[in-house]
Amino acid sequence: MIRLGVVATLLASLVSPAKPGGSTSPSIATTPTTDSADKTVVVMLGTGMPRPDPEASGPAAAVLVGSRVFLFDAGPGIMRRMAAAKLPINGVTALFITHLHSDHTLGLPDLIFTSWVMGRRQPLEAYGPHGLKAMTADIIAAWSQDEDIRTNGLEHEAPNGYAVNVHEIAPGVVYDSGGVRVTAIPVLHGDWKEAYGYRIDTPTRSVVISGDTRPSNALIAASHNVDVLVHEVYSAARLAPEKRPGGGDWPLYMHQFHTSDVELGRIAAVDKPKLLVLTHIIRMGATDDDLVRGVREGGFTGRVEVGRDLARY
Ligand SMILES: [Zn+2]
Ligand SMILES: [Zn+2]
Repeated sequence: MIRLGVVATLLASLVSPAKPGGSTSPSIATTPTTDSADKTVVVMLGTGMPRPDPEASGPAAAVLVGSRVFLFDAGPGIMRRMAAAKLPINGVTALFITHLHSDHTLGLPDLIFTSWVMGRRQPLEAYGPHGLKAMTADIIAAWSQDEDIRTNGLEHEAPNGYAVNVHEIAPGVVYDSGGVRVTAIPVLHGDWKEAYGYRIDTPTRSVVISGDTRPSNALIAASHNVDVLVHEVYSAARLAPEKRPGGGDWPLYMHQFHTSDVELGRIAAVDKPKLLVLTHIIRMGATDDDLVRGVREGGFTGRVEVGRDLARY
C-alpha cells in the first residue's frame, strides 16, 4: 500500500502552478448517526490547537462505524464535545493518540474519569506512542483521592472502572476487528521521536487523520485516493517571526512541525482525496477563504472544508 518510490516521483513533480478556482461551501452536515452496521461518519470534536478558543476545542475527532466509536486524540474539551455530538459518554470502542503533545492529551484524564463516573465498566482501550503507558499511570496516580472517595464512599462507583488498557504501538496495522482496520503511519513532527497519523479502513470508507505533521512521505503514500483526508494546517501567508523571546524561531518551528495550506494543497493534489477537511487550524489571523486560497495555490482543485467543531462528514 505504501509505495514510497512512486510518491517520491510524485513529490518531485510537485511544482504545480497556482490553480485557483473551484469553490468551497463551508457547511455543517446534520445527518444523524444511523444504526446501519457499517455506515462510516467522521465527527470533528475539536478543530483547534493550543490557544484556547471557545469555538474550536482541542484536537479530537471521532470515526463512527455503525454503533462503534473510534476516537483520535483527546484534546481539552473532548467530553463536552462528545456530549454535544450525542456520542456515548460512558466509553468508546477505542482511543488512538497521535502523539503526546499536551494539546492532544489534556482531555485524557477527562475521558478516563468522566466516562467512569458516567457508567464505564470496561477498560478504555488506548493506542498510542511509547510514553502513553507512563502518562496514563501518572494520571491514574494523580487522581488517587478521587478514585478512593468515589469507589469507597456514597457514590459507589465501580472499582477500577477508570481502568485503561494501553497499547504502545509501532507503525503498521494496530487495530483490526469487525471489518475496521486502523493503521499507524509514522509522521515527521519536529523533535518528536514518535508521532503518528492514522488511516482507518471500514467496509464503506477510508479516512486518514494526519495528527501533527510537516509534509511526510509516509502519510502522503497512505492517503492516496482516500474518501476523507483530515489534515492539520497553518496559514503560509501569515507566518512571520513573533514579537516575544524566542519568537524569531517561530517560522522555523512551523516548518519543522507543521504543514502550511499551500503545502497541503500540493499534498492533496497528489493524493486526490474525495474530501479534504482542515483541522488543528493555526490561523494567525487567516480567514477560511485565506486558508482555502492557500490550498488552491498548492494545486488542489477538489472539495475542501474548513473544519468546524461538531461538523460531520
Ligand atoms: Zn504536536
Ligand atoms: Zn497539536
